Amino acid sequence: MGFEPTRAAGLDRLTDFLPRAGRAYANNRNYDDGVSDNGIRRNVSQLSPWLHSGLIKEAEVLDAVLRQHSADAADKFIAEVFWRVYFKGYLELRPGIWRAYCEGRDRALDAIEANAGLRTAYEAAVAGSTGIEAFDHWARELASTGYLHNHARMWFASIWIFTLKLDWHLGADLFLRQLIDGDAASNTLSWRWVGGLHTKGKTYLARPDNIARYTANQPGGPLAAQGLASDAPALEEPGEHPRQRLALPPAPDCAAFAKPYALLLHDEGASHVPLNLPSPPALVIGAARPEARSPLPTAAAVSGFAQEAVAGGVSAAAAAFACPGIDWPTDRPLADILAQAGIEWLALPYLPAGWTRDALMPQIAPFAHQGRVTELLPAIDRETWPHARAGFFGVKKKVGPILDDLGISASPTLFAAE
Ligand SMILES: Cc1cc2nc3c(=O)[nH]c(=O)nc-3n(C[C@H](O)[C@H](O)[C@H](O)COP(=O)(O)OP(=O)(O)OC[C@H]3O[C@@H](n4cnc5c(N)ncnc54)[C@H](O)[C@@H]3O)c2cc1C
Repeated sequence: MGFEPTRAAGLDRLTDFLPRAGRAYANNRNYDDGVSDNGIRRNVSQLSPWLHSGLIKEAEVLDAVLRQHSADAADKFIAEVFWRVYFKGYLELRPGIWRAYCEGRDRALDAIEANAGLRTAYEAAVAGSTGIEAFDHWARELASTGYLHNHARMWFASIWIFTLKLDWHLGADLFLRQLIDGDAASNTLSWRWVGGLHTKGKTYLARPDNIARYTANQPGGPLAAQGLASDAPALEEPGEHPRQRLALPPAPDCAAFAKPYALLLHDEGASHVPLNLPSPPALVIGAARPEARSPLPTAAAVSGFAQEAVAGGVSAAAAAFACPGIDWPTDRPLADILAQAGIEWLALPYLPAGWTRDALMPQIAPFAHQGRVTELLPAIDRETWPHARAGFFGVKKKVGPILDDLGISASPTLFAAE
């Protein structure tokens, strides 16, 4: 499967997909047609690995799409990209959900260690040997390609929770370890959505007829899904996850880049290009931490993509700015690297709630407390996140004005309240 961890490859994928981002996407996106010979699907973009790693950014994708299609024709694709931005903002407003997920995952992992029956059921699901043809097909596809179609993710999560009755935290953990695009916000909140924890009480039930219909074009014909649960009672959890005040970094001014500074690239911000830095850094540092996704091992394709995306991003930035580029290994303090380089200031793409922030922030925080860190938050996030307070609708009705503010052409009335 062709997920090459470079910005150029992401832009190529975008260019190839652009003609199909309009009505064709809206009409065909729900079909899981399976993996073709060259691994590229025609009906969805498969841009998520590049978007997650920050090799390409949402605003440039939307801009390119709206140069080829009217806002009317591309409204579905635009809305999907905004789902990603919405989920990021929602988790930013409720970081307690991420902490609770990590705790729940660790408890669930302990439980399978302690209970042989549970462990057997979990291992059968992971290996794709449950006897449910469709589920087993996706489990194997996930392991071998690092990607699943959105509809397959929904069915998989629903069967995991309601038919196999496995803990949702374990399924979300499996996705994070095996999806190249594994994303703390989209993944955690989508699993919670399927289980009825995101929109309280509203669950997603996978049905055999729906699976057969939307997998009709699979190379081997529609996928069968025998013995699925016929109801999906909402999961419950103790306690609420209260919304916090958004504490976003201020938009930086040029003064922040006047002193010699190091640019830190990471798993979710691997390219300097979308940052539009006003002056060059004196040093580029790369920190890839894919192993922080889970206490269990991360799939080789996932680690490889992250490591190469960051290493390639560092090389590209070092060449563009004619400065040194180095790796920040996990066993070396950041303070040492900066002290050795004689640099006191740091700039980095914003670290959203999730494992990358958990892995890096403890060492960045002391510099941040001294006012020596500039976090760069894309304008689309700054504009959208305040509206991610509850359901997606709050964001959807602001899409037109947000695109206008960003200078991306779209009809301001298109996404007005329905
Ligand atoms: C249980 C479950 C887990 C998921 N886990 C992840 C994850 O870890 N990482 C991840 O990026 N997405 C996740 N998604 C959302 C979605 O499935 C993927 O973003 C999408 O399938 C990526 O494929 P694509 O790039 O071809 O999407 P396209 O259909 O081409 O959409 C374009 C872009 O819009 C965004 N997008 C599309 N659909 C969604 C959606 N439902 N929610 C959020 N953003 C969306 C993605 O960035 C995507 O690249 C999950 C969905 C479910 C149901």
